[in-house]
Amino acid sequence: MQGTSENYLTDEEAENFLLSSISTENIRQWSRTYSAGVHLAGDYTHASSIKALWQSYGIPTAISSHQTIIDDPGPETAVRLIDKNDSGKVLFEVSLVEDVLPSDSTSSIGLPAFHGLSCAGRVVAHLVYANFGRPEDFRFLDEHNISVKDCIVLCKYSANLRGLKVRAAQEAGAAGVILYNDPQEDGEYTVANGYLPYPEGPARHPSAIQRGSVSYFSVAAGQFPTDEFTPQIPSVPISYRDAAVLLRALKGDGLDCKNLPSGWQGALHDIEYYTGASSTLVELVNDARRKECKIHNVIGTIEGLSEECVIIGNHHDSWSVGAVDPVSGSAVMNEIARTLGALGQRGWKPRRKIILASWDNEEYGLVGSTTWATLNESYLKENCVAYLNVDEATNGGPTLLPVSSPLLTQALFDAAQSVPSPLENSMEVDQDWLFILDGLSDKGHDTVYSDWLQQTELDNPSSSTPRIDTIGTGSDFTIFQHHLGIPSTDVVFSGGKKNAVFQYHSKYDSYLWMEKFGDPGFRKHTAMAQLWGLMTLRIASQATLPFTAGPYAGSLKQGLSNLELLSDINRRELNQVIDRFSEEAARLDQEAEDSRRHPNVFDQNRYLMIDGINKRYMSIEKSFLNEEGLPQRRWYKHMAFGPGLWEGYGGVVFPAIADALLLHDDALIQEAVDATTKVIIKVAKLMGTKI
Ligand SMILES: [Zn+2]
Repeated sequence: MQGTSENYLTDEEAENFLLSSISTENIRQWSRTYSAGVHLAGDYTHASSIKALWQSYGIPTAISSHQTIIDDPGPETAVRLIDKNDSGKVLFEVSLVEDVLPSDSTSSIGLPAFHGLSCAGRVVAHLVYANFGRPEDFRFLDEHNISVKDCIVLCKYSANLRGLKVRAAQEAGAAGVILYNDPQEDGEYTVANGYLPYPEGPARHPSAIQRGSVSYFSVAAGQFPTDEFTPQIPSVPISYRDAAVLLRALKGDGLDCKNLPSGWQGALHDIEYYTGASSTLVELVNDARRKECKIHNVIGTIEGLSEECVIIGNHHDSWSVGAVDPVSGSAVMNEIARTLGALGQRGWKPRRKIILASWDNEEYGLVGSTTWATLNESYLKENCVAYLNVDEATNGGPTLLPVSSPLLTQALFDAAQSVPSPLENSMEVDQDWLFILDGLSDKGHDTVYSDWLQQTELDNPSSSTPRIDTIGTGSDFTIFQHHLGIPSTDVVFSGGKKNAVFQYHSKYDSYLWMEKFGDPGFRKHTAMAQLWGLMTLRIASQATLPFTAGPYAGSLKQGLSNLELLSDINRRELNQVIDRFSEEAARLDQEAEDSRRHPNVFDQNRYLMIDGINKRYMSIEKSFLNEEGLPQRRWYKHMAFGPGLWEGYGGVVFPAIADALLLHDDALIQEAVDATTKVIIKVAKLMGTKI
């Protein structure tokens, strides 16, 4: 039931207060403070300081602690090039620590590079270069008679999630995996193109190494690390500088990548890429040491007039000092907490409860959020209307690039239209990576929305609305969207192609990088605080939820067209039921629109009508859940959206069908199509049934 409004401030006054109160200086201060040290999973001191801060803002806050399993790199971890003809003489040993940069004070602290929840072990074997380590890359090698059996494979990051590379290598018979970031993924700003590396210029530092979990996020989130969810062969990440030495050792062995399909040839200067297998040997030692670790989620609660709630979340653990990941999100969240606390002191009370969640142990596998949400499952399913995640407020890009449930599309658009562009004044900064986009910079800047739309049009001239991607995984929204059926989004300033290279999960994800390249002036941080804060206020305050079902139908149609291998018969079948869904969605959106016309008229009938509309919106995501889970991965339950099984971060529409198509099994495909068709009809009916 909706409560009555007892606020001293109108919604509009509360929004204006939020927009004008967000302080760039406060955000910058939190960025500097949090990125002065490393906050690995289980950092109680860090969690306590967040709790104390939010409490000082007047938000009742508690710590929720849980036992989990993590691992640390032991001292034996190593990657060596071995001369097999000279009784195992070590020709080269890679460095598992980045260079210490005198101008970047935090580049000397923290753990050496390793893969979280990786498999311990030692392998001495020939090396094979396997492109991005996707299943299709291993199939390609196999078709060209390059065996990876019992070999160590060297793969590039990007294209898919790191654990899935190790999983694909393992399934192809490899004995170990080495991963590195090839400058191929860095666009314009590479050393080969004449740009200086960080800290002098925007290119990736040659010694940067990407840490990160190798658990299989696309199979399940937050699980105990068993063989089902984590690799059984060792893996280690290295820098591109050291990968170049290994690639040189492959020269002349196997296929010349110049003659292979695009993608295989990387962008390292002076390297001729060959597949191998190498004639020399590589020794890979992963001295991973598993241990128990108590983690600490920080949960702040602003009571509302009803039990319904909206949750905003960001994680506070990191691999390095993490000025982007997660500190850019954490700093922004603190400023939202301060502003919401100040609103409370002015007599403002939201209609729905606002829960602020600072998750621990996101990095090893979304563990903090998954554990907490699992423990609170029945409350959340009943009462949580939306989950709004910001992991990275910005990783250097100029425009928004959200992933989202389509129910939140219009709320994202509306909030972005209310927030001034953070790019407005950056033109005075005389560095070309801040000019960002040829088109964008000429048109002048208005709002976050107009930048976002311009960026989308530059990338895809036929689009008429800003780009929102299908929600996959990779951060703490995963359990909310895919396991509990709560409409979720993850928002980041990330769009654009000409950004300084974000050195993800390396020691150079630092305050210096953020100040110099990522967000000089912290304007994008400020815009994110305004955007995230506004969405929170609106979802928490508006009687009729600011949701729209229309874009849902559009996403399903678009996703269907991407399932290339689907037969025409199945496609027609699904298109028909999506049309039915679309009609009901339009009707529901119209009723919601009508209900918003007289926001200040309160009577019993109106409450009942609005309550019914909200319940129908709330039923959409939940009704897409299949309680038995997707056939190929039971933890994931959502039949409309899921992470691509072999992609990870990237989302797919109709995951049960997409999984079956990967198996090329006609019976499974038909079962998945039937189940998906049934669920779309069910949701359409529910949308059209007045409560
Ligand atoms: Zn993160």
